[in-house]
Amino acid sequence: MDALLAEVRACNACAAHLPLGPRPVVQASAGARLLIVGQAPSMTVHATGRPWDDRSGEQLRRWLGVERDLFYDASRIAIMPMGYCYPGRGTSGDLPPRRECAALWHERLLAQMKHIELTLLVGQYAQRHFLGDARKGGVTETVAAFAEYAPRFMPLPHPSPRNTGWFKHHPWFEREVLPVLRARVRQALAAGQGAAPKGGAA
Ligand code: SF4
Repeated sequence: MDALLAEVRACNACAAHLPLGPRPVVQASAGARLLIVGQAPSMTVHATGRPWDDRSGEQLRRWLGVERDLFYDASRIAIMPMGYCYPGRGTSGDLPPRRECAALWHERLLAQMKHIELTLLVGQYAQRHFLGDARKGGVTETVAAFAEYAPRFMPLPHPSPRNTGWFKHHPWFEREVLPVLRARVRQALAAGQGAAPKGGAA
């Protein structure tokens, strides 16, 4: 895994399209139990080089009921966005994740993570890639049908502050989905540990 991660971090396959240049932001280990597949690093994350090290990440950690130490423990949690480098800005926010990463790296990384108990699909790009035709009409409908994708996957909306309106209009997410999410995350992280993790579900 170390050699593969070194290869990923040296990738410059689509450098010509990246306004800030390549800086792949991935966290992985062969023993990880929980995999989080997001969209692409924000400009803040590009600067720090740490996945979800921004306001979206604060919200995501609250949803999961995990603290920073556990979230950044690569031996237990893997984090692989759909696009590994910051893609730049478009007219209505950040551009979509680069497509090259999935083709170049996803399968190779996944092949080395044989103990993943649960994969969180955060946002439309991850859901489209991993669920394919099993997706419902859009993110809202797919998240509402989350039980259908158990035990392997759990689809989630993007926790970006830009989605505050969505959270207000869909209170069932906080009320019905988050308790299940926390329980499933806790269960996945406890696998192989012999006990529930410290800093686990809130
Ligand atoms: S976005 Fe993906 S394919 Fe492009 S340089 Fe970064 S890691 Fe390589």
